[in-house]
Amino acid sequence: MNNFLDLCRETIGASHVITDAADMAGYLTDWRRRFTGRALAVLRPGSTEEVAALVRLCRQFGVPMVPQGGNTGLVLGSVPDDTGNEVVLSLGRMNRIRAVDTVNNTMTVDAGCVLATIQNTAAEAERLFPLSLAAEGSCTIGGNLASNAGGTGVLRYGNARELCLGLEVVTAQGEIWDGLRGLRKDNTGYDLRDLYIGSEGTLGIITGAVLKLFPQPKAKVTALAAMSSPDDALALLTLAQDRCGATLTGFELMSRFCLELVAKHYPQMQPPFPQPYAQYVLLELSDSESEEHAMSLFESLITEALETNRIQDAVVAGSLAQSRALWDLREHIPLAQANEGKNIKHDVSVPISRIGDFIRETDALLQQAFPGIRMVTFGHLGDGNLHYNVSPPLGVSDVEFIGRQHEVNQVVHDSVHRHLGSISAEHGLGALKRDEIRQYKSDVELVLMATIKRALDPDNLMNPGKVLPA
Ligand SMILES: Cc1cc2nc3c(=O)[nH]c(=O)nc-3n(C[C@H](O)[C@H](O)[C@H](O)COP(=O)(O)OP(=O)(O)OC[C@H]3O[C@@H](n4cnc5c(N)ncnc54)[C@H](O)[C@@H]3O)c2cc1C
Repeated sequence: MNNFLDLCRETIGASHVITDAADMAGYLTDWRRRFTGRALAVLRPGSTEEVAALVRLCRQFGVPMVPQGGNTGLVLGSVPDDTGNEVVLSLGRMNRIRAVDTVNNTMTVDAGCVLATIQNTAAEAERLFPLSLAAEGSCTIGGNLASNAGGTGVLRYGNARELCLGLEVVTAQGEIWDGLRGLRKDNTGYDLRDLYIGSEGTLGIITGAVLKLFPQPKAKVTALAAMSSPDDALALLTLAQDRCGATLTGFELMSRFCLELVAKHYPQMQPPFPQPYAQYVLLELSDSESEEHAMSLFESLITEALETNRIQDAVVAGSLAQSRALWDLREHIPLAQANEGKNIKHDVSVPISRIGDFIRETDALLQQAFPGIRMVTFGHLGDGNLHYNVSPPLGVSDVEFIGRQHEVNQVVHDSVHRHLGSISAEHGLGALKRDEIRQYKSDVELVLMATIKRALDPDNLMNPGKVLPA
């Protein structure tokens, strides 16, 4: 393999071929620190042509590749396996904003651009790029597109897929497909862009993208409502969508226990109500008119929701600081749960209308199987997407609990399936869920997926062992 590495050095420069164990370490362990792989090298190309040349070299020497952006993925898709035969192809150096077109409302970027840089560039052009998630300071647009990321703006703007008009991809053969078209309409055959989006690096390497931009809202207003059940939260969602239309851009459910954990681990973060409630919803309006307009929409919505008993209490943030404090409650739930100890996470979706039934039934099944289990249920209710996380019963050790992870997953995912849902709403399958998916997708679907993989990557060198069941 020395010959292979020498040719890599010739292609992208010796300093961008990392083989030193300490220098490679950050690329080999996943964000949640559940797995550390091994690699022949970490390759850091600086251009699309360099990516293509590296892919051709990998093909020539039969070396499998793991594309990597910010390495913030949550399903072990961005880290190599433990054979030491794979290379990590890190896109971090490819971080140029290529063009901003404020008439076409598009931005063309390198795949290694960090999401926050793209958001800021859009804001400087008085536009909005609405993809937003807690990892935005380090995740890259290539990773966002490869995993079809969701986040907090999906209700109004859709997933990463809906925000992308065109792609540039290096194929598994090392050819460059220039699909960087900024067209809203283009019905000229199979949609290759949609095939590569969400393929988690298993079909090719995304090197560039044309992204959709939107007008900046004139005002953003946040409110927190309290209610007694997920069904009441659903009733509030229907009312809010009816009264606020596309102005409603956020609708996040949080259970009482979620906010109790936040208050326990971050005592400065307390729910702004005199008493606790069973459920809470964080609502956000993004208004194209003015702050006054947004406030008055909120006031009439909340008055009607109180009068019709959909909610029991509510506060509207009167300043940016108050709005930040409400979002802090939501964003600190995963951190508070991590401080509490080990937990088992599920990123699931069900049809929005079934959320109440899903939570009720699955909570009961888990309590029956694991008495005292503590549910940390929160998520993007407006998208039907729950982070249905589970902490151990008090007194049960982390090791014992994690040892039963498979049983817990089975209960939750079987219930998701009965409710016509998905066991991965926004994080993908990676290596973590690739075998489990076999239980929940039909043979027809799995065979079609395998056929596409074989057609585009016949040598199985693009992120092998990810997405498709072994
Ligand atoms: C704190 C935190 C919060 C998060 N919140 C959300 C959330 O709200 N919604 C959500 O959907 N996700 C969320 N995620 C997970 C999410 O998938 C990632 O944060 C992000 O989309 C991945 O981008 P990345 O650049 O880090 O990709 P990586 O982690 O590097 O890679 C992810 C996958 O994409 C592939 N890949 C990466 N770059 C390319 C490329 N250029 N071409 C082809 N394949 C590539 C990798 O091989 C891997 O399979 C969160 C993660 C963290 C750590």
